[in-house]
Amino acid sequence: MKVHEYQAREILAKAGAPVPAGEVIESAGDAAGAYTRAVESAGLGDGGLAVVKAQVHAGGRGKAGFVKLVRSSQEAAEAAGFMLSNKMVSNQTGPGGLEVKKLLVAAGVDIAKEYYLAITTDRASRRDVLIASAEGGVEIEQVAHDNPAAIIKEPIHPLMGLQPHQARRLAFRLGFTGKQVGQAVKTMLALSRAYSKNDCTIAEINPLVVTTPTDAHPDGEVLAIDAKFNFDDNALFRHKDIAAMFDPAEENPAETRAKEYGLSYIALDGNIGCLVNGAGLAMATMDIVKHEGGEPANFLDVGGSASEEAVTEAFKIILSDEAVKGVMVNIFGGIMRCDVIAHAIVSSAKQVGFTVPLVVRLEGTNVEEGRAILDKARSEIPTMQSATDLGDAAKKIVAAVG
Ligand code: GDP
Ligand code: MN
Repeated sequence: MKVHEYQAREILAKAGAPVPAGEVIESAGDAAGAYTRAVESAGLGDGGLAVVKAQVHAGGRGKAGFVKLVRSSQEAAEAAGFMLSNKMVSNQTGPGGLEVKKLLVAAGVDIAKEYYLAITTDRASRRDVLIASAEGGVEIEQVAHDNPAAIIKEPIHPLMGLQPHQARRLAFRLGFTGKQVGQAVKTMLALSRAYSKNDCTIAEINPLVVTTPTDAHPDGEVLAIDAKFNFDDNALFRHKDIAAMFDPAEENPAETRAKEYGLSYIALDGNIGCLVNGAGLAMATMDIVKHEGGEPANFLDVGGSASEEAVTEAFKIILSDEAVKGVMVNIFGGIMRCDVIAHAIVSSAKQVGFTVPLVVRLEGTNVEEGRAILDKARSEIPTMQSATDLGDAAKKIVAAVG
């Protein structure tokens, strides 16, 4: 599960990392007030620096023009108006872009230097690893490609966690000096705590900045001004506070609907809808569809024990995709019973109707019963064909949509 930047900043601040204050708004009319409060939090008045940032589950906002520095309530209102009425297209959104419904208005900072800091699992070493770079702000993939030596990796012990001496050594290697060192260490330890406490898969601060020196802070201040957290879905049950941060507006609606019914559904670009039980069989089905020259419209695993209601919902989700020109059902009934699938096909035909070709391959538990149910309903589902095996099913559906 992903969360918005403003939520990630909250998590980070709670863990003890220094994060500038800010608030979330959903209408341009609230931007002026939010600006005033943001600059006040930094001890400034009108003319002070604030930043308006689109809250969407995608990065690359800066380059896309959806992170704007503002110096008055009017500029804040203009930036907010623009972001809420234009779709954001970045290298992470796809060409269609994303609608922006929430904005963060935060105290702005004068940046002397940007750093990169993240934690994720390194599968090769089977450890979590702290990844840091003094070349932050820009895309880290680009740095990794152009100048891999600029990326430092520090393994984290699975039982002891990130140790202060590791963080300190890293801070020196990154070039922090004076008071910055302690602040950078504090931030790294906070990031590490937040990562493990919340069962994250990624925790990232990009950029971590050092601000321009002032009389009050002659060494500058180390601050996290962008944060990103992804969480392990399988651990969400023990983090109710994190689960409550879920924003359905940011998800593919079909995928959200599928999740509610316990189905694993991922939308793809092709035109052949696939309904399969078991993730392995679903992968094999997609492979064989491609092998026959077709393109799957989705990955859908109804699982081992889905109810007739859930399977009917699965058909509705597939059929609601306008790109779908044919549906292939591939069931190998183990725990899943073929008669349950057959009933679901019949009830979907009644509720939505199969206007596109449907190829059904059933095998396994209660297969005779399943076939009998479908045979009886054949007149109600004129686009249905039966297949003898997986290869036959793929050939038939590819021919039918071609
Ligand atoms: P992203 O592009 O989606 O990762 O959004 P970020 O929050 O990382 O912002 C992109 C860039 O905008 C940063 O790398 C900074 O260079 C700049 N930026 C963001 N906030 C501030 C700020 O408060 N002050 C200044 N001077 N620049 C900022
Ligand atoms: Mn960023």
